Amino acid sequence: MLKIANRISALGTETAFAVSEEAAAFAALGNKVYPFHLGDLNFRTPTKIVEATRRAIEEGKTGYCPTRGITPLREVLAADVNTPRGTHYKVDNVAVQPGGKPTIGKFVLALMNPGDEVLYPNPGYPIYESQISFNGGIPIPYSFIEDRDRFRLDIEGLRRQITKRTRMLVINSPQNPTAAEYNKDELEQLAEIAMANDLVVLSDEAYFDIRYEGKSQSIASLPGMEERTVILYTFSKKFAMSGWRLGATIGPAEVINVVAKLNVNDESCSNHFIQYGAVAGLSSEQPEVKQQLNVLKERRDVAHDILTSIPGIRCLLPQTTFYLYPNVTGLMRDKGYADYESFRKDILEHTGVSFCTRMHFGRPSEGERERYVRFAYSGIDVAAIREGLGKMKQYLMK
Ligand code: PLP
Repeated sequence: MLKIANRISALGTETAFAVSEEAAAFAALGNKVYPFHLGDLNFRTPTKIVEATRRAIEEGKTGYCPTRGITPLREVLAADVNTPRGTHYKVDNVAVQPGGKPTIGKFVLALMNPGDEVLYPNPGYPIYESQISFNGGIPIPYSFIEDRDRFRLDIEGLRRQITKRTRMLVINSPQNPTAAEYNKDELEQLAEIAMANDLVVLSDEAYFDIRYEGKSQSIASLPGMEERTVILYTFSKKFAMSGWRLGATIGPAEVINVVAKLNVNDESCSNHFIQYGAVAGLSSEQPEVKQQLNVLKERRDVAHDILTSIPGIRCLLPQTTFYLYPNVTGLMRDKGYADYESFRKDILEHTGVSFCTRMHFGRPSEGERERYVRFAYSGIDVAAIREGLGKMKQYLMK
């Protein structure tokens, strides 16, 4: 028997992928599955990006490239971040990455010492907790409160968690899984907390450009915050490019220098020819993007209408991300579901509707009574949404 290193026991995972595997196994038995579990888009990457990438391959951009990424991409990335945020990033503030996710581990490695406490959102993207624990830090969760019209950051709860050892704050706005947005007041309070306690901030802005109304805001826009914020940027969601694996770490040059050193050690460089596709993506309008947002909005509305017509479910209507995070407390109680897994599996088995629950986004905190599930509508067409959620409704109202 090979003995696996002890440190691996501290490494978490993304259990949404396990739900995908379960749904695929269920489908392989001949069952129809309605996939609401994974935040992946069933759209094509915009044509100009595909063509520029193909050209780059034909032109032989198939060897290594600089570890921080090609300069033209770093230039357009800085501009793409600066324009809506009013920030001042330059080429030296950008390190290209193979996706958005690598920024999380590299941020932690660059700035956290073992024993440091790191505030992170829970429910939230599970990789924060995984990387903090794996690298010897202490993950300290903060949460959200469901109001009548939005999920509000539990800022008082967050303040109470700060100690002398708190070193970092992870924020994710717009948020996965709740679709919560930290509003201006919350961002200002977080900025004040970060400055008063000398915290560095990871701002995961993976969903910054996925929105139907209004404008996304970044903590990096606030006075004094550009110097202490690292932005996670990704092409996965904005251009339907999750499988291409391309993103960037954007932040203070001294952090980017460390991240570049980690790049050399980890992957040498991100995929070379794709970076030319990304330059094309950021250098001109991509007509498909607007169309795709319209399609997402229609899916959101259809899914929201059906979900909220089921007794015992209530659900906010977010203007961003491609997630709905309905409160199913009443439904689970009325139908006698004892726990999340029995609820999720029963719905999958009887209707083919596959989704994640709150359990896939971190451990529920002590005393957490409200029950939530997450429906991703990024990978399922309107007709299938109607059919699947219609079946689910019929089953639950029997
Ligand atoms: N951050 C959040 C909040 C996410 O939901 C995801 C993916 O679902 C990522 C980061 C990472 O995305 P990627 O590595 O595909 O860019």
